[in-house]
Amino acid sequence: MTAPTKTDILDALRVVYMPDSGQDIVTLEMISGLIIKEVPKGVHISFVIEVSPKQALQLESLRRAAEQAVQKLRGVLSVTAILTAHKEPPKSQPLPSRQQQLELSSIRFVVAVASGKGGVGKSTTAVNLAVALAANGQKVGLLDADIYGPSVPRLLGLAGKPQINDDKKLMPMMSNGVATMSIGFLIAEETPVVWRGPMVQGALIQMLRDVAWGELDVLVVDMPPGTGDIQLTMAQQVPLAGTVIVSTPQDIALLDARKGIAMFRKVDVPILGIIENMSYFLCPHCGERSDVFSHGGARAEATKLEVPFLGEMPLDIAVRETSDAGKPITASQPKSPQAKTYRAIATRIWEQLNGTAIQRTAPKIIMN
Ligand code: ADP
Repeated sequence: MTAPTKTDILDALRVVYMPDSGQDIVTLEMISGLIIKEVPKGVHISFVIEVSPKQALQLESLRRAAEQAVQKLRGVLSVTAILTAHKEPPKSQPLPSRQQQLELSSIRFVVAVASGKGGVGKSTTAVNLAVALAANGQKVGLLDADIYGPSVPRLLGLAGKPQINDDKKLMPMMSNGVATMSIGFLIAEETPVVWRGPMVQGALIQMLRDVAWGELDVLVVDMPPGTGDIQLTMAQQVPLAGTVIVSTPQDIALLDARKGIAMFRKVDVPILGIIENMSYFLCPHCGERSDVFSHGGARAEATKLEVPFLGEMPLDIAVRETSDAGKPITASQPKSPQAKTYRAIATRIWEQLNGTAIQRTAPKIIMN
């Protein structure tokens, strides 16, 4: 079966007309960033429809129509159309063309830590897992890609600006044996940042490419929460070996987690497993355990979705206090049961990476 070409896709899109203009979205040159990603069973297609900021809100039906038009082509597994209200990326931040595949040859596995929504303990988990992997003997980096709320500097008690080396690369900051980079090092903490699509991609690529990571076994990427366009773009641009989904046991969070899993599957990123965070409450005084939320939901869900269950971390005051103090429990109390749990989860992730999970390079991307 031959996959649709760029021309086939643009032809299919000519049936989608821009309201009130009498012209189609291809003639109006509104399509950009067309990506055709080949996988064994077909192709995944994504593209951007550029509109003016004023129109963006009204054009959801046009976006859906464009997706449906392309979905009809032979061999198309998924179509993602993204509306963007920004015609040109800012000149000061030239974007690397996606033809230049991001080369991270010194990094063996890039692992995303993701969650369907905010506040589930994703960053806390990412930081402790990075420290745990390092404690287990791996060479580890941590990239805080949570551009909307970069919390890694606070969680690791890191401050100041990163140094620049002779090759003009940013030097990661070292903390508990983990090479760390965060957008939080580069912008003032209280500065509100309005991130536009191209800026996000630019910042992420820079943090991956223009940082002197050195030789790493694992780069843990703390993703922004949620499953929107930003996350999808990141998942497509970064050569991910797999993703770890953090979820609380409440059903609602699990619903979100399911969306996260679906998103990563859509772009063929292996799910290394689910971690249930704030799983149950362990009383620090009497040691008694109470299932505050309906504990066990993530394990049941993992079985249902046929993804590995990596472990559970209780709702634990010491985890919160050490995080708030910038001293992750895995480093500050390495003999504690909590640190042991994080290390056990890290071991399972490492086994997944070396065993069942395939060592991946960036997906093959054909560009317009
Ligand atoms: P996210 O990155 O998902 O937004 P954070 O990692 O910032 O979430 O965690 C949100 C809050 O929950 C923080 O105050 C953190 O200290 C706390 N927290 C995270 N995991 C646990 C846990 N297992 N036990 C207790 N508090 C936790």
